Amino acid sequence: MCYFIAVAVKREYQLSVSEFSVTTLRLTPSDSRTINHHIGPKWRAWFLTENAHPDCSCGLYVSPETEPLSPEEDLGRRRHKYLKKGWSSAKIERALRDSGANHTNDDEVTDPSGMSRLVKRLIAAAADKYDDARFVVHEYARDTASEKFTIRDGPVVAAKELLDFANPILPDTMYTVRRTRARAV
Ligand SMILES: [Zn+2]
Repeated sequence: MCYFIAVAVKREYQLSVSEFSVTTLRLTPSDSRTINHHIGPKWRAWFLTENAHPDCSCGLYVSPETEPLSPEEDLGRRRHKYLKKGWSSAKIERALRDSGANHTNDDEVTDPSGMSRLVKRLIAAAADKYDDARFVVHEYARDTASEKFTIRDGPVVAAKELLDFANPILPDTMYTVRRTRARAV
């Protein structure tokens, strides 16, 4: 069970993290038939993962849906997330011990939306540069290509407001981010 964040821009643009000077993230073309079908032929979706851990987006997103996890499940899930971030086992144990009432300073954990602030910044910049962007998060139980799920259409958020967007970012919801910067002439 792993989360993937998919970001989509219009097909005429080649989405690239290096254009935004982001060196820790990577994009790979989405092979999810569900997502690619949902966005339609005018858009192209990419999975956004970490360079160090390209096999899922669990280090970049925590579901804010309050499915009541047992303490063991919660610990297991957070341990997996921290491993994905490349943390040492000492750091992980410290974070798990210190959490509870107090969050760590890690920005993925503290963003109330559940999404990494670096990812939010990247998507907002992509929306400004490529004339809107869309994103959806899904927790895959099996392979990304064949898994079928239903995507709801979610809110439209202005690019300049995405970083401060504090509502929980829900899985299986397609968010649209509108360009807010005037296009250079
Ligand atoms: Zn994962």
